[in-house]
Amino acid sequence: MSVVISITNQKGGVGKTTSAVNIAYYLAKAGKKVLLVDFDPQGNATSGLGVDKDKLNITMSDVMLGKKLLKDTIIATDYKNLWLAPSTPHLANTEAELAQAERRFSRLKVAIESVANQYDFILIDSPPSLSLLTVNGLIAARYILLPVQAEFYALEGLGQLLETMKLVRKNINPTLDLLGVLPTMINSRTSLSQQVYEEIKQHFPGKVFKQTIPRNIRLAEAPSYGVPIGEYDKWSKGARAYKAVAKEVIERVG
Ligand code: ATP
Ligand code: MG
Repeated sequence: MSVVISITNQKGGVGKTTSAVNIAYYLAKAGKKVLLVDFDPQGNATSGLGVDKDKLNITMSDVMLGKKLLKDTIIATDYKNLWLAPSTPHLANTEAELAQAERRFSRLKVAIESVANQYDFILIDSPPSLSLLTVNGLIAARYILLPVQAEFYALEGLGQLLETMKLVRKNINPTLDLLGVLPTMINSRTSLSQQVYEEIKQHFPGKVFKQTIPRNIRLAEAPSYGVPIGEYDKWSKGARAYKAVAKEVIERVG
């Protein structure tokens, strides 16, 4: 069975997609079979893997509406062991359409269970909100990986996410667990960044990844070429950091 990890933080621009794409890539490089589910209407993980959103016929939107099976949306990427379930902006309309639908919170879970025996890891890239989609991700997942940007206000709003996580655990998914908090965009030259990093460690004792993600321009450039960092500049600091995080993910799920 696969390990399902939802990469979640309702705050925008904290490094969810960058983490999802690059951890998925390095897990695949390590020989794990990986499915990356793009579950954000922005479709950034989809374009980040070089997939042209305009050419997609079947997406996560169809899966959520019950029109297609998850296995029909999955496409092979250019990389061995790595598959993608893509999304486009249609997913935003889908969310509105689902607002009153039956079993609307567990649709992703049911879909993922139907393919779970084919992958070692299934990573879900969540949108920047505590929406129906995000909650579907939390219900489908065994673990949450929480990227936190090392900047002022980093911890603000996290209480709400942890509260949602508790509710999901209590009502429907008792085994949901925090896999780890991943500090991102750390700027080693500013004391603020270091200070926030210390604060994150205090706030989540024992839960912070040993390996953190530095602010690295190469990580920001890679998506414009539609490739993971390991294909764009594998010796960059960002690449080496994500490779080490993927290794830590494997250790943590043990
Ligand atoms: P959203 O909430 O909109 O989905 P996100 O949490 O998925 O955003 P990303 O898209 O991964 O965040 O990152 C936000 C921006 O910061 C992007 O332009 C990305 O390329 C850039 N970025 C991410 N991580 C780093 C990093 N470690 N160093 C430099 N730039 C980064
Ligand atoms: Mg994103």
